[in-house]
Amino acid sequence: MTLLQDKDVRTRKLHSCEWCGEAIPAGSCVNFRAYIFEGALNSGWQHLECNAAMHLYLGYDDDDGFDVGSFMRGTCTLKEEE
Ligand SMILES: [Zn+2]
Repeated sequence: MTLLQDKDVRTRKLHSCEWCGEAIPAGSCVNFRAYIFEGALNSGWQHLECNAAMHLYLGYDDDDGFDVGSFMRGTCTLKEEE
């Protein structure tokens, strides 16, 4: 994975969190990343606590990636299958 941007931003519109899939309302302070993964340009917003959980889960060598929206908010715990 090649990280292009990784910064804290205040959102101007509604997004959903890459990590937990929950809504991020406009005006929230969140982490924004833009990156190249498996040859494709991606970008995503994450709650700050979800970004912290992601770093715990992946470490800083994050070539394994993760499934978008598959974790409980702010934790490294996978959601139950529905
Ligand atoms: Zn989240």
